[in-house]
Amino acid sequence: MKQILIISGKGGTGKTSLTAAITRLYDDIVVADCDVDAPDLHILLKPDIKERSVFKGGKLADIDPEKCTECGKCTEVCQFGAITEDFTVKKFSCEGCGVCVWNCPFDAITMYQKESGEYYISEIENGIMLHALLNPGEENSGKLVTGVKQKALTFAEKRNVEFMLIDGPPGIGCPVISSLSGVDLAVIVTEPTKSGIHDLERVLKAANHFGVQSKVVINKSDLNPENTEKIKGYLDKEDIEVLAEIPFSSRFIEALKQAKTIVDFTPDGIESQCIREIKSKLDKLI
Ligand code: SF4
Ligand code: SF4
Repeated sequence: MKQILIISGKGGTGKTSLTAAITRLYDDIVVADCDVDAPDLHILLKPDIKERSVFKGGKLADIDPEKCTECGKCTEVCQFGAITEDFTVKKFSCEGCGVCVWNCPFDAITMYQKESGEYYISEIENGIMLHALLNPGEENSGKLVTGVKQKALTFAEKRNVEFMLIDGPPGIGCPVISSLSGVDLAVIVTEPTKSGIHDLERVLKAANHFGVQSKVVINKSDLNPENTEKIKGYLDKEDIEVLAEIPFSSRFIEALKQAKTIVDFTPDGIESQCIREIKSKLDKLI
């Protein structure tokens, strides 16, 4: 079983549309939406949620009023102003550092894991989808990404599928690092803009750093042929394969408006041919 991660240096490159479209071409697949800060794969794949579970992210301090003598030591040491004058913890200010626990002379403070979001195990028409949602204002998306991936891996092994597809987070932050771990291939989606080239270089460096092989899809490749050539020249030098060049098409937008993948919206269109070309190249990985 091969784990394929689809990522991009920034949001809005068409990464999720591509993941959803490739997913639809398999008879049985496990797909994970690891873009947990802004998940939208569900819009196109319409998962039927079968199971929910709580995601416990960071820790919070809690003061036991029975034990607290109101000595004030915790307010002195808390660098985040998270303890009120009447010695309760402000949930949205506490960073979970634990300094107050170490400093309370009366063992009145304990740490507990807060509920930061939810995991979902869902059925899609042709397989299983694992996804999640962080509660508003919550962090720790790297940990949630790891959780979603681990759950997806369990299902992929159980169902003995050939591929597990992962819609990764954009950028090169902590969630992307979490999503890169253990994958067989990173498919990087880029666009021929100046910032697109820069973002591509950054994300390639991150994948290289973790020893993950990369291949590239150039989306909207005809919008700036000069930049597309620059990208191809750079990738050629780095010995990185271009899986496909997808021309700009307003049909991607039309498909999105109807909450359909491009391969469902226009099965015989040039766009769908590009997606099938990508799939056939991915199939050679097995
Ligand atoms: S340090 Fe402990 S005892 Fe002192 S005010 Fe804080 S919680 Fe209460
Ligand atoms: S855990 Fe850290 S941030 Fe939270 S109340 Fe204690 S000292 Fe302040």
